[in-house]
Amino acid sequence: MSKLKPCPFCGKPAYLDNVFPPLYKIQEWIIRCPTHGCFCNTDEPHIDKIGKVIAWNTRPIEDELRAELEKTIDNFEIYVMQTGEEIDVLRAENERLRECIQYFQQTLKVRTEGIA
Ligand SMILES: [Zn+2]
Repeated sequence: MSKLKPCPFCGKPAYLDNVFPPLYKIQEWIIRCPTHGCFCNTDEPHIDKIGKVIAWNTRPIEDELRAELEKTIDNFEIYVMQTGEEIDVLRAENERLRECIQYFQQTLKVRTEGIA
């Protein structure tokens, strides 16, 4: 049996509970959220335990949003990596230009001292 997803409203871990509703006179399973005041549960009658778990875990919009979030995170990581590479290139170029400036300053200083 697959693991229960957390409560879709408060995010707390849900749990499977068995009850005996007086009207049905058979054992029923219910998935509940433990958070006080969060009444999220699967209370449809006459669905077996596996059916309740499947119903609880079936969340197409949430799954779609999670997939989209994962794709966005992947794209962001690629962007950060590329940006890091670009920063490394710019730092190397900055260092090269700094060395050029120091060379020209030194050359200019030598020429100026030669004139004086
Ligand atoms: Zn909840």
